[in-house]
Amino acid sequence: MINLRNVRKFYGALEVIKGVDITVEDGEFAVFVGPSGCGKSTLLRMIAGLEGIDEGDLILNGKRINDVPPDKRGIAMVFQSYALYPHMSVAENIGFSLSLKKVPEAETRRQVEGVAEILQLTDYLDRRPAALSGGQRQRVAIGRAIIKKPALILFDEPLSNLDSALRVQMRAELQRLHRELKATVVYVTHDQVEAMTMADRIVVLNKGVVAQEGAPMSLYHQPDNEFVATFIGSPK
Ligand code: ADP
Ligand code: MG
Repeated sequence: MINLRNVRKFYGALEVIKGVDITVEDGEFAVFVGPSGCGKSTLLRMIAGLEGIDEGDLILNGKRINDVPPDKRGIAMVFQSYALYPHMSVAENIGFSLSLKKVPEAETRRQVEGVAEILQLTDYLDRRPAALSGGQRQRVAIGRAIIKKPALILFDEPLSNLDSALRVQMRAELQRLHRELKATVVYVTHDQVEAMTMADRIVVLNKGVVAQEGAPMSLYHQPDNEFVATFIGSPK
């Protein structure tokens, strides 16, 4: 579904993505994992179209999309700091993109209720974000992304602001969501445990290059290099 071919990115003279090749198959839950500053967010922002690509090709379903604007890519992104509209209800937050597209009110309501059910937000639709827990707010942010029925959803460390118990619960919920939506997911985290428990495919990044890519257990048992062995935490 997604192919990055020799993709590079510079901030000024600083090369932060140094020619990466990554493939994510249709329907996969792919996790990009690596230490802070290795370029995970930059990669996601390039896939979403929020950041330009200096060199290389970004292919989506066989088509080069380097120059396709973000809103024409059919990709949704969920950020770590989920900025909800504070003056809007949960229902209005989730349905906002549909109201922008002039979808009739009754149809918007129907779709919002469908999304709310998947995310267990049905009882909270009339609340403002301030009256929600951190986990509920993050679910609203996810609802805003999935209501557009994207074929590809990008998550940038979506659970890192949550406490550890909630994080474990949300991991399972996101996996369930992935199965229900049948969407392709690219999930970015610096947390190896999150990567190992959630991923169909892991891409380990280090300093702007792919250190290794593969199934979680193959990385664990056959790390290609010292960095992957240490970072994924497998025995030598
Ligand atoms: P990660 O998400 O893995 O923590 P980032 O993609 O945010 O990493 O950052 C990769 C590198 O690019 C870091 O060295 C960071 O300081 C640098 N960087 C990120 N965004 C910018 C920017 N807008 N301008 C300059 N440097 C940036
Ligand atoms: Mg980041």
